[in-house]
Amino acid sequence: METARQGLKFYRFPNLARFPEVVHGIFTRRGGVSAGPFASLNLSFAVGDEPELVQENRRRIIQALGLSALAGADQVHGLKESVLHAGNPAPAYEIPEVDILITQTPGLGLLIKQADCQAVMLYDPEHGVVANIHCGWRGQVAGILEKTVVRLRKNFKTQPHRLIAGIGPGLGPCCAEFRHFRQEFPRQFWQYQVRPDYFDLWQLSRDQLCAAGLRPDHINLAGVCTKCNPEFYSYRRDGLTGRQGAVIALRLQR
Ligand SMILES: [Zn+2]
Repeated sequence: METARQGLKFYRFPNLARFPEVVHGIFTRRGGVSAGPFASLNLSFAVGDEPELVQENRRRIIQALGLSALAGADQVHGLKESVLHAGNPAPAYEIPEVDILITQTPGLGLLIKQADCQAVMLYDPEHGVVANIHCGWRGQVAGILEKTVVRLRKNFKTQPHRLIAGIGPGLGPCCAEFRHFRQEFPRQFWQYQVRPDYFDLWQLSRDQLCAAGLRPDHINLAGVCTKCNPEFYSYRRDGLTGRQGAVIALRLQR
């Protein structure tokens, strides 16, 4: 589902878009001010882009979604989460070593940056909690989606069958090549091999969410491959490149 606000084009998941109290956007690389390999809506301070340009790009997202602040992290393919009440305290500051962002604070946008990894968004309509997860293959191996659901149950009494989920763009089965999968993937992942050395990591995330207790009909899948689609940054395609953003927030009350 495509939409545009304040000159920025972005995509939305139909299932999350049904909830007026939630705002979210899957942004492309278009509509920002960065140049060269980072053109143009790069949201990462860690790839060599000018910090002032990244800040302007983030400002545009805040404006497009009507947020009060944005929270982003130094994503490290780990399993740590942060429950957030305010945006990053300074420009160019990132929360250290966190891959799961959670909040109940309206207006606070949770930013996951990616260029081939998935961003997976969760919304608990019963308790008013949103989460955004940096989900690469290492996170899938480590069970990051289930870990997030367990944490939501513990902290917020979330019932997994009530959760609404969106799995963002990432490497598709067309491009997710893992030549060393026997070392990198546990045996139960091998069933996701679609042809020699290529894996369906989208279906894997969907199945992992279902195994964590989500209803299949509550899960939307973008089904967009970042390497195939020039609208998106792809590390596998370009090496030196930027990072696009996926953002979810509770709507700011006006
Ligand atoms: Zn592809």
